[in-house]
Amino acid sequence: MSDPLVTISMYRLESEAFLAKGALEAAGIDAVLVGQYSASNLPHESFSGGYSLRVAAEDAEHADAILNQIHGVAHAEYVRPSDADDAAPPSRCEQCGSPEVRKVQKLAMFAVLAVLITAVFIAVDQAMWIFYSVIAAGIFTLLAARWQCRNCGYRW
Ligand SMILES: [Zn+2]
Repeated sequence: MSDPLVTISMYRLESEAFLAKGALEAAGIDAVLVGQYSASNLPHESFSGGYSLRVAAEDAEHADAILNQIHGVAHAEYVRPSDADDAAPPSRCEQCGSPEVRKVQKLAMFAVLAVLITAVFIAVDQAMWIFYSVIAAGIFTLLAARWQCRNCGYRW
């Protein structure tokens, strides 16, 4: 590979590192595992840094997406956030810089809206409007802010 390699993920466990490498290779991406040893020629026990998984710069975005899929949210702390993957929460509030950012629970928000709409239109006997309004609520929920700061309440 003539392209520079970039580290896309770090692993503490060899098994996890190999699993990730295998997943990338299955997707046709050449991946290299580099063990980060504290000193040369020491046994496995003294190993301190973990393994870094590297791919060609041009494959980084694709590889990141694959890793995020297989690791899910539980592994997010090890996976570099990528612009291509909007599932990773921003680390800081855009407004006040606080790290206390939470994901807005859109599904719960939609469920509450749908129940309210249904109740209102059943009360006025307008069944047709339930259908249209729930769709409108769904679109509204999709377009609504995804992140909320616990510190200042800013949403974006
Ligand atoms: Zn804030």
